[in-house]
Amino acid sequence: MTDYIDRPETKILLPGDRTWEQVMQPRDQSVAHLKMLHNDTEDLVELAAGSRDKDGRLRVFTRENPSYFLPGGAAGLELWRDDIMQLVDSHSLAGDEMFVGPTARTYAQGTKAAVTSSNWLWVDIDNPQRLDALWGFLKAKPCHMLVRTGGSGGVHAYWKLKTPLRIDTEVAGKSIDWLDRAHKRIIWHLGTDEHDKPNVADPVARDRSRILRLAGTVNGKTGRHAQLMFLDARNEGWGISDLVGDLPDPSSWTPRSATPRTVRAGGEWQTIPADQYWSALTGTEPTESGWARCPNPAHDDTNPSCRVGGGASPQAWFCHSCGAGGGLVQLASVVNGGPHSGLRGAEFKRSLQFALDRLGLKPAG
Ligand SMILES: [Zn+2]
Repeated sequence: MTDYIDRPETKILLPGDRTWEQVMQPRDQSVAHLKMLHNDTEDLVELAAGSRDKDGRLRVFTRENPSYFLPGGAAGLELWRDDIMQLVDSHSLAGDEMFVGPTARTYAQGTKAAVTSSNWLWVDIDNPQRLDALWGFLKAKPCHMLVRTGGSGGVHAYWKLKTPLRIDTEVAGKSIDWLDRAHKRIIWHLGTDEHDKPNVADPVARDRSRILRLAGTVNGKTGRHAQLMFLDARNEGWGISDLVGDLPDPSSWTPRSATPRTVRAGGEWQTIPADQYWSALTGTEPTESGWARCPNPAHDDTNPSCRVGGGASPQAWFCHSCGAGGGLVQLASVVNGGPHSGLRGAEFKRSLQFALDRLGLKPAG
């Protein structure tokens, strides 16, 4: 699969072992990307737009706006792609960057709760130096779509599934996020460092409500177009067990939203990253780049100005506008109308207990 990695052409596999290879207009690449992902989607397709602030940080600003959730190709509307492309065109003219959710949304929100099944698995490989691991994997498990992101030289690979993967299945009273599990198997298989941390594919991108850059649109970091490199249009998906059944669960794998874990006396809760506790406590998801609306009720934050985790302090959150901030306990206090600083004694314990309950964790002893 490496023979066309640096080429401007798009390679398309067609039924009957035919191959089509040409340079596609950017807009045609967007249409092909959307059609491939969502021709069979009955529910909503999430399109997302973002822009860069003066520091170059991308802020996606559409994830709670119902206008950006449109019916997919199986909803019976002949012109579904035209409606989506109208949005793409207007934002591209405005210089915004465009993304699409690979999974269907059951209602108009870019959150995990809105995603109940997936026709796709995907990985995001940022570092072009590590693409060899992906090419090796694709020899055994060919994918159906490759998009070069137009950023640092990275690639998104997508595998189509034969039948939709139901994400939340109850097994013996536990709810298991199967998409998360399948994604983790591929991500860890592609490569990890000595601490068992993935170093080829981005583990954060496995989120079921993830949005990924739309092919044919401009990456604002570089000014280059994301390019549709490869597309398998022969319409045969993978069975999930053929695709990931022979890969082990990573040793650090724990099912999401399973039975309560016990927090050790040392305070395991202090190590939970902010982007993991944020949605459980606030009911909202941070943007792809880690921004959220400020939870401080005294701050009417229309632009997401609150940084959630990331960088040097993954367990912390901080509002750049009003200065509210802290960790898990402080967030629990704020969402219950309390202060974000100076918490101690019973007030601290109450907030911690509230947070642990919401996260399905229980303190030791
Ligand atoms: Zn604030």
